[in-house]
Amino acid sequence: MSLSLADILAARRAIAGVAVRTPLVPSPHMSAIAGHDFLLKLETTQPVGAFKLRGAVNTVSALAGDVGGVVCCSTGNHGRAIAYAARARGLRAVVCMSSLVPQVKVDGIVALGAEVRIVGRSQDDALAESRRLSREEGLAGISPFDDPLVIAGQGTIGLELLEDRPDLAGILVPLSGGGLAAGVALAAKAIKPSIRVIGISMDRGAAMHDSVRAGRPVEVEEVPSLADSLGGGIGLDNRLSFPICRDLLDDCVLVTEGEIYDAMQTLYFEDRIVAEGASVVGIAAMKAGRLPPFGGPVATIVTGRNVDMASFTDIVSGRSVRLGDMEVEGRTYGA
Ligand SMILES: *Cc1c(COP(=O)(O)O)cnc(C)c1O
Repeated sequence: MSLSLADILAARRAIAGVAVRTPLVPSPHMSAIAGHDFLLKLETTQPVGAFKLRGAVNTVSALAGDVGGVVCCSTGNHGRAIAYAARARGLRAVVCMSSLVPQVKVDGIVALGAEVRIVGRSQDDALAESRRLSREEGLAGISPFDDPLVIAGQGTIGLELLEDRPDLAGILVPLSGGGLAAGVALAAKAIKPSIRVIGISMDRGAAMHDSVRAGRPVEVEEVPSLADSLGGGIGLDNRLSFPICRDLLDDCVLVTEGEIYDAMQTLYFEDRIVAEGASVVGIAAMKAGRLPPFGGPVATIVTGRNVDMASFTDIVSGRSVRLGDMEVEGRTYGA
């Protein structure tokens, strides 16, 4: 199975009118830190509050007319996007999630009329349940990242980025299962081979980072993170997103929970944008000096806004946040 720019151009036609062509805006504060333009691709403005709508619409719109419904596992945003796309087609949707998924994400999915199953304490448990339902109830299973139509859908972000700014030298992509990074890297490098695409994850439980380093898909322990949308494994039987990330990403970089906390404050106070921890890892990596010099404009994808507002309020108020057995120490922004 191989994917090309043609698949991503086809995805763009399939999702037009449902997923939004999102704005790319400069961040003056981050540009001053970077020493060149630093741009924000605002996937927070998608109707479900996250980029996953692109891959979900591309996949659901391609299903046969007589399909009985769809099932998926999710850290929240894929489920919400699938629920949205399924409802638009009048299809039953079942979303399997672990107990680590924040309530705000569960509520968003239920509000769209999907059935929610909370199973176990990891994405692997949720994946096993979604595979069982797919087999036993004849529902079409849609992976959050290891599916050619999902990857092509997410890749439409790469097309838009280089249309808006052909001079981009680099793209910073939040990285979990790698559907987003694979699609964006495929599109961007097909258009501009010299561009550098860097995947960024939290430093605890970074499955794609560890897998790329190991040269094969490996398992990680899933722990609570401010970047909850980046949790979970990539599947030991990963077929597509792993080889594409391995071959096309220029590097995989890790950031700490403290750096994610600071980046959420930064994006809020400097640009007045409310975003999830997963969305700000590009900002975190740039502020922490964890990136190579780009020598030209860089964009990061602000992937979603579906953050638990109680934790968000704690963070922008400078209060400490508890993550399982870890505490992220509070600090007042700019103090
Ligand atoms: C899913 C998700 C990601 C990571 O995407 P992958 O394709 O799994 O790498 C990043 N940010 C948000 C908000 C997400 O929902």
